[in-house]
Amino acid sequence: MISAVGLTVDLKLLWPSKPPCPHCLHVDGRIDTSDTHLAASDFGNMNHFSPAAVLYPASVRDIVNLMKSVYRWSAYSKITVAARGHGHSIHGQAQAHNGVVVNMGSLRGIDVHIQDSYADVSGGELWIDVLHATLKHGLAPRSFTDYLYLTVGGTLSNAGISGQAFHHGPQISNVLQLEVVTGKGDIFNCSRDKNAELFHGVLGGLGQFGIITKARIELEVAPQRVRWIRVLYSDFDAFTRDQEYLISQPKKKAFDYVEGFVIVNNEGLLSNWRSSFFSPQNPVKVATLNTKGRVLYCLEMTKNYDQQHALHVDEEIESMLADLDFIPASVFTTDVEYVEFLDRVHTAELKLRAKGLWDVPHPWLNLLIPKSKIAQFDSAVFKDILRNTTSGPILVYPMNRNRWDERSSAVIPDEDIFYLVGLLRSAVSSSSSSSGSGHSLGDLTDQNERILRFCRESGIGEKQYLPHYRTEAEWKIHFGAKWDTFVERKARYDPSAILSPGQQIFRAAL
Ligand code: FAD
Repeated sequence: MISAVGLTVDLKLLWPSKPPCPHCLHVDGRIDTSDTHLAASDFGNMNHFSPAAVLYPASVRDIVNLMKSVYRWSAYSKITVAARGHGHSIHGQAQAHNGVVVNMGSLRGIDVHIQDSYADVSGGELWIDVLHATLKHGLAPRSFTDYLYLTVGGTLSNAGISGQAFHHGPQISNVLQLEVVTGKGDIFNCSRDKNAELFHGVLGGLGQFGIITKARIELEVAPQRVRWIRVLYSDFDAFTRDQEYLISQPKKKAFDYVEGFVIVNNEGLLSNWRSSFFSPQNPVKVATLNTKGRVLYCLEMTKNYDQQHALHVDEEIESMLADLDFIPASVFTTDVEYVEFLDRVHTAELKLRAKGLWDVPHPWLNLLIPKSKIAQFDSAVFKDILRNTTSGPILVYPMNRNRWDERSSAVIPDEDIFYLVGLLRSAVSSSSSSSGSGHSLGDLTDQNERILRFCRESGIGEKQYLPHYRTEAEWKIHFGAKWDTFVERKARYDPSAILSPGQQIFRAAL
């Protein structure tokens, strides 16, 4: 029997193939075996595998007890455990079919250390809450994701990237220490100096080696305001040349954030859900650009500043823009509070939710493309395969490899500069799409397959970000030289392959 506060559950429900278990799992929190459908969904809305139970832990000890209990019985059962952050995966990565899902949001806690500029935060905290808590002290994390309603444990299990990554590195490069519960139920504090193998393994480790229960996040002094600029290009070479120039600048001369996106046709320009920024302030300007039928590229930058430096910011930006080669009439500028800029995608989320367009299938595809192949990718994908099809934002921005720690589990292309290409598309019917041009899940999935086939056949050397593969052979290719280390770490920290089964990398051997 499993005893939980106010609930007693027959263990056979959780371990159906196992003879009756004499042990009890004691938790301070709650185990739910009836209302499990919520843990069988995610943002991708394409995979729905119900767990046998959901643990709402009241303490880290609950997670330790669960893992010890499951590990003890792993010789007899195939029970698996998935930490669920905010369930914003695409392909069921945080699901555990007939296993146990640990709802990490039940464990909260943000402790800001002002003197040392770091925050100790629970793995289930949302980045938006971390931001608000640190801003109270005039501090903020250094590296973000575009969207902040993601958990600390969830993004650290991948990398956590956005327009600050060229300078600060991904979020996994901005963590000082972790508390981790392994697949054996052992709990460790780890850092670059202590239990370093586990520390590096867990960062970008797709949840395979342990559950991140706490993370120590580096902070910096938070700016007050952001000058937010977008400029357009019709020439891809000029666009990427300028992006690469911007990410090579020393901090003093650099923008604080550099991203970019593709505008496949006019649909992308005005109805792209992340681009409300263009209108209503600038509709005339956009119309005069006469973009019909052409692929355009939008470079997006920000400069952070404080009120006392407000006078200089225009001058600084003007001199930085003078070096760039964009279409002269195409400068769009706005000025917002720091938090408003960082929380920009949530504003778009609320609009889409109001139209019933948030909880639709999202066959997203994120690729990291080496700099040497990005022009080839542009010709084949943006200008050919995607022609007339957007169905969501298409991000393109470069990052510097030297801001990533080679020892982490994250996999990136083998060049000094590589691009994120994020095809963030929604499957919606024509009648629900604001532009009247819907795209079915089947069409978008087929298109993703074509893009991946093109990459394979042309030797692009891409790496999937938020990777999704089904076979060990594919995972081996994905990890490349890191595969052996990944397998060794798995054998050491989760030998029974209990953790994060939704990633489909390892299967419990029974
Ligand atoms: P979940 O989906 O719940 O979990 C993801 C994986 O991590 C699962 O395998 C899960 O088992 C594991 N996991 C979760 N918590 C823990 C933990 N505490 N310890 C160990 N393993 C754990 N990513 C970016 O890098 N940059 C972006 O700008 C960005 N923008 C996004 C915008 C939207 C609208 C969405 C939906 C996603 C975006 N993402 C972005 C992707 C996002 O980083 C990943 O989907 C991430 O996994 C989501 O975090 P989550 O908290 O929802 O994790």
